[in-house]
Amino acid sequence: MTSTTRTETRTETRTETRTLPLVFDEPRGRRKPPRHLADLTPAERRDAVVAAGLPGYRAKQLSTHYFGRLVTDPAEMTDLPAAEREQLVAAVLPRLLEPVTNTATDAGTTRKTLWRLFDGALVESVLMRYPDRVTMCVSSQAGCGMACPFCATGQGGLQRNMSTAEIVEQVVDGARTLARGEVPGGPGRVSNVVFMGMGEPMANYAAVIGAVRRLTDPSPDGLGMSARGVTVSTVGLVPRIEQLAQEGIPVTLAVSLHAPDDELRDELVPINTRWKVGEVVDAAWRYAETTKRRVSIEYAMIKDVNDQAWRADLLAEVLLARGDWGWVHVNLIPLNPTPGSRWTASRREDEREFVRRLQARGIPTTVRDTRGREIDGACGQLAATGAPVKAPVAAPAVAPVAAPSPAQ
Ligand code: SAH
Repeated sequence: MTSTTRTETRTETRTETRTLPLVFDEPRGRRKPPRHLADLTPAERRDAVVAAGLPGYRAKQLSTHYFGRLVTDPAEMTDLPAAEREQLVAAVLPRLLEPVTNTATDAGTTRKTLWRLFDGALVESVLMRYPDRVTMCVSSQAGCGMACPFCATGQGGLQRNMSTAEIVEQVVDGARTLARGEVPGGPGRVSNVVFMGMGEPMANYAAVIGAVRRLTDPSPDGLGMSARGVTVSTVGLVPRIEQLAQEGIPVTLAVSLHAPDDELRDELVPINTRWKVGEVVDAAWRYAETTKRRVSIEYAMIKDVNDQAWRADLLAEVLLARGDWGWVHVNLIPLNPTPGSRWTASRREDEREFVRRLQARGIPTTVRDTRGREIDGACGQLAATGAPVKAPVAAPAVAPVAAPSPAQ
């Protein structure tokens, strides 16, 4: 997908771009992660417990330990007969994520964890604590097949899809870290989950929907989070956006648009060669119409590539053509540096003008902060190379966890 010969002349930096292919399916023959409680619906958990030769009602007790108390250590499951605990844990609570490194910045309120999965695959998650919320940014695939040239994950290709439980475990670990008071600001809870880590969530649809259900199912079947606090971000797999709209879970949809015109988007977001700007924006609009949730348009601001004033006007036009009833909001992301990329973030004045033009047309526009940049934990920087980290903190053991006092 090299840039085509252009007849018109505009002052902008073009690129030779990479020739990475788009990959939708994970490589064949990879072993599946072990089955885990969080992969299963409540009915399936019961079946699994019965199949292990134990009473079906133990499933609910185990769910309470895992989703309610964030406990996986048999020693802490004192309401269960000692003889059954090990058996239950062995049957449905295998350890799926091993912490490799933990890196912190912002006085400990931003923490990136590098995880090793059962087969050696590496993924990352990021916890960000703000005064009013805690956001967990989770990975949904080891690597990514979408090949966006400005994203570190996209440049590494796809290793494999993650399972529902591997996704959920990232959130449970964050929840546990917060509950234990290990993040400055006192004990807390995860209020938001964004599928903006490694991977393209819509290319691993079934596992991602499973994870969304586990996050939003009421405790103890799930973590009991509000669907409004969950954001699924996509490069724009149109049929999957349509499918998500029909699930009846009002999660926030974010679409990584990055260009309002097909010529540039073909290059920046290669999936555009499959589904064009018009199609993806139509799908986003239908999502907002169906779910009544405002859609977020993500737009990484790349100096002299996609940040021209005329592109701001064109973006406004493309969005407003579908309606001006507040169905959409634009989130500009200052480009974060990635290895080998020759692109840089927009000038401040160009960013300001871009915002001004969108806002002048009545489109709510925000500029995302660059949290995590110092630890390569910001948007587009997750590569899970295991490269030396800049400010390592000790990786905590995952289990055991202190049991909450009876008063809690
Ligand atoms: N594959 C999904 C989920 C990843 S979300 C998606 O692309 O939407 C990560 C967000 O960060 C996306 O909006 C992505 O386009 C953006 N991003 C990627 N590389 C970036 C970079 N170098 N700087 C800023 N944002 C980047």
